[in-house]
Amino acid sequence: MDLEGIRERLSREEVEAFLISNIVNVRYVSGFTGSSAFILISSKEVLFVTDPRYGEQASSQIPPFYDLVVLKPGERLSSVIKGKGWSSLAVEDSITLAQYNSLKEGLEGVELVAWKGVVETARRIKAPWEVEKMRGAVALAQEAFNRLRGVMRPGVVERDLALELEFVMRKAGAEGVAFPAIVASGPRSALPHGEASSRTIGEEDLVVLDFGARWQGYYSDMTRTLKFGQWRSWERKVCRVVLEAQQAALEVVKPGVEAREVDAVARGVIEKAGYGEFFGHGLGHGVGLEVHEAPSLSPSSRDVLEEGMVFTVEPGIYLPGKGGVRIEDMVYLGLEGPEVLTSLPREVEE
Ligand code: ZN
Ligand code: ZN
Repeated sequence: MDLEGIRERLSREEVEAFLISNIVNVRYVSGFTGSSAFILISSKEVLFVTDPRYGEQASSQIPPFYDLVVLKPGERLSSVIKGKGWSSLAVEDSITLAQYNSLKEGLEGVELVAWKGVVETARRIKAPWEVEKMRGAVALAQEAFNRLRGVMRPGVVERDLALELEFVMRKAGAEGVAFPAIVASGPRSALPHGEASSRTIGEEDLVVLDFGARWQGYYSDMTRTLKFGQWRSWERKVCRVVLEAQQAALEVVKPGVEAREVDAVARGVIEKAGYGEFFGHGLGHGVGLEVHEAPSLSPSSRDVLEEGMVFTVEPGIYLPGKGGVRIEDMVYLGLEGPEVLTSLPREVEE
């Protein structure tokens, strides 16, 4: 995190301190893995404010030059800020209304200024050690998928398969799952976010599996579509078009390219095949300490791809009442071009 950059901005805008309240941003900036803390950055100091539950953990995790402030029971953040005598404070524009009201109430006379996406912007570019953690999260999810390949078959209930996936990821060492695993079979595969239901996978189903793991704070996110039994001709076509769209997108991914341009390339392949109206979501999203973060690869995105970004490329086609296909891989963008972090076979059929 660019402390100097923040301090320059504080002085330029004549604001006395910057409050980081989003706990994911707190973790990114400080290394603290607990669930309740704030960081205050002023021209002279960095205060790390937490409650008594986390005093000890914080002292072992945060950088040594931070000043640790442990709130007394019932004490509020605003009392710490007030004690500093600041007259203005920048806050993340993502703070909740409750946090804002609490600050407003406790900091009478202090001007609050909203700063947008300061830490989120830094988080878009991953350090090598962050990419390594994401490789770990990818490996855990893939291991679970591979271990369960044998039981992914007709006759199995979606929900049971989703739970197995989650269990095996956890058992293999994941801290958690990225989100409840999506297992959507038959006509349900047309639901882009079809959470696993009590439906039993049928003999000739397409099955979309979307899942990921968290490891050392970092996420993975991937999707594979399985096909059982006899292929219908539209299924073959849709699978082929989705794979082509993904391949075409990967070929144009490089530093300096507009994210929406990559989306447009994949979307173009799908439109040309006549399925444009059935690809209703963006092509991809950044992954890191959150499973969905910047950049966004979508028609409305203003992001430009940069070296160090990690994001998904996940085209899909969803035919209502019939079924759908999505293929999602995670990409690390190096100076030379994309490295696909996920390595499960893309074409999976029984
Ligand atoms: Zn996904
Ligand atoms: Zn995704």
